Amino acid sequence: MYLDPSGELGILFWLAVSGIILCASTSVGGYVAAAVMSIWDEDIRKDMGRIGWNPFNSDESKVINSTKVSFYKGQFVIRADLSFIKNRSFSVGIMFLDTISTKDTPYGRDTVRHEWGHFIQLGIVGVPKFIGFFAVPSMLSGNSSIYYSLPWERSADLFCGVSGSNWPYPHTPNSGLYSIFYLIGVFGI
Ligand SMILES: [Zn+2]
Repeated sequence: MYLDPSGELGILFWLAVSGIILCASTSVGGYVAAAVMSIWDEDIRKDMGRIGWNPFNSDESKVINSTKVSFYKGQFVIRADLSFIKNRSFSVGIMFLDTISTKDTPYGRDTVRHEWGHFIQLGIVGVPKFIGFFAVPSMLSGNSSIYYSLPWERSADLFCGVSGSNWPYPHTPNSGLYSIFYLIGVFGI
């Protein structure tokens, strides 16, 4: 049987760039949706006005003070009451930022930064690997006492420069290094 190596490489290539494509399309799509809905939705108009309609806004407080949508460093943010998943914010391309648990505090601002770190992970490893090696393990380990030191969480903190001092427990020793090995391993398989 004849196998076309360029075809196989093509699939690997598209799996890898799928993350970047998803990140870019959710951001562009979110911006267009916010622009259209702001015509009749005053909350969205205020939210977007708060960040000066700048999708690269880097002020975490402005994101937290939004009520429905926002942007943080290129990532589209949706505010929602996530009580059905214990008010845990999450990020799969779009940042879903809980309105109940995320306040304008050091913890809340680090949560915005941390979720953006997952956006970067997705851009690096692509959609299938992000789901399998980051999103699902994250969901399954939600009750761990060293949650933010786990390999799929820790590199998100590394990318956004979160020190861990505002989490319930500090990062465990070498967890940053291990998380980089984990990311490189996931990228390479
Ligand atoms: Zn996380």
